[in-house]
Amino acid sequence: MGESIETPTYSFVIPIYNEISGLDELHTRVTALLEKLDAPAEVVLVDDGSSDGSYEKMIELHKTDSRFKVLHLSRNFGHQIAVTAGLDNTAGDAVIIMDADLQDPPELVIEMAEKWRAGYEVVFAVRKRREGEGIFKKITAAMFYKLMRKLAQIDIPLNTGDFRLVDRAVVDAICAMPESSRFLRGMFAWAGFKQIGVEFDRPERFAGETKYPLRKMLRLAADGILSFSSLPLKWVLYLGVFVASISFIYGLIAIIIRVGPFSAQPGWASLVVLITFLGGVQLIALGIIGQYLGRVFDEVRHRPLYLVSKSHGIDETVRKHIGK
Ligand code: UDP
Ligand code: MG
Repeated sequence: MGESIETPTYSFVIPIYNEISGLDELHTRVTALLEKLDAPAEVVLVDDGSSDGSYEKMIELHKTDSRFKVLHLSRNFGHQIAVTAGLDNTAGDAVIIMDADLQDPPELVIEMAEKWRAGYEVVFAVRKRREGEGIFKKITAAMFYKLMRKLAQIDIPLNTGDFRLVDRAVVDAICAMPESSRFLRGMFAWAGFKQIGVEFDRPERFAGETKYPLRKMLRLAADGILSFSSLPLKWVLYLGVFVASISFIYGLIAIIIRVGPFSAQPGWASLVVLITFLGGVQLIALGIIGQYLGRVFDEVRHRPLYLVSKSHGIDETVRKHIGK
């Protein structure tokens, strides 16, 4: 304690959304880790609009140990934005992003810090096994990473979440990126720098329920794909060209049938098929374009990424209360 006066070498960023049942254990494990680290650290707990008393508990933690600092967002902004807010408010030379549910084992940070000392600027944790996660989540996650790899022209490492240690230079680069749909692991991959992965077995959630229901997972996946790849737009173009060529051929056939020695058919069925097919294709195309357009709209509005309503212990020189 009293350590917060000197600038920390390590900053932890932990986003927290209704994690009251696990906060004590998190505190114990992280404190034990801090003792083992080779330099002073701070822990920025970001309260992402919790409603279960997590915030009050965090203030308590800050009062007993000033290395724990609290950022209280004005509402629930979502995991990626909460992490962004945390990154903006760190002072350390190396920043560690970690989940609050202990699925990102704090003990791995020792190994990450060694890699950082050895000169790596991004040390990301690679999941070897995922315990306690349903087959559905495993399959969809695997599919998503495959798709991402195909779609995005940047190389996002497989089986990697947001658990990572990042050098100050990279943190500053990420904080300087203004986009509002933030898919952090993609942004880190885009940033480059000297990167390396360390493997770990992902344990089960320590307590509470996942805060990533299917809806949020899909949203994250869409953010990843749409903000890192414009390939879907190209596919739509190809599809359009393909359908147009088929229509052209069909037109020729229709003319031949009409002028040739055949008796013209009523042609009702083929018309219906064509109209519905083309209508479907057009709607898909419009939908995909709309997805991109919606994101452009989000960006041009230039709204702040997040708003902080209160903070505890964050140094004035780094404090940033409006994201952007
Ligand atoms: N989280 C957050 N805001 C949200 C959802 C989640 O800050 O809107 C935090 C949550 O408290 C946890 C981390 O993000 O620390 C990861 O969430 P979770 O463990 O539920 O995701 P999963 O591991 O199931 O993908
Ligand atoms: Mg989790």
